[in-house]
Amino acid sequence: MGVTIDLLRCTGCGACTYICPVGVLSVDDMKCRVSEGCISCGKCVEQCLWQAIALEEKPMKKRKKRDE
Ligand code: SF4
Ligand code: SF4
Repeated sequence: MGVTIDLLRCTGCGACTYICPVGVLSVDDMKCRVSEGCISCGKCVEQCLWQAIALEEKPMKKRKKRDE
């Protein structure tokens, strides 16, 4: 679980750091950083105007085979 930050898109505006309910986002050197403890709520993804944040795909999710 967690989020990935596209550092090329991130402007360091800091908007996501205020919305995160568990406070794992911070801005350092004009780039967003995420630390341990993200609960994958998705709020920061919606908040980021530059679409710099994406939720990581759950590793448990497996595709069903078509011809089963
Ligand atoms: S809201 Fe987006 S652009 Fe702003 S600091 Fe967070 S990730 Fe970067
Ligand atoms: S998905 Fe939720 S918990 Fe994770 S960094 Fe974004 S706002 Fe914080």
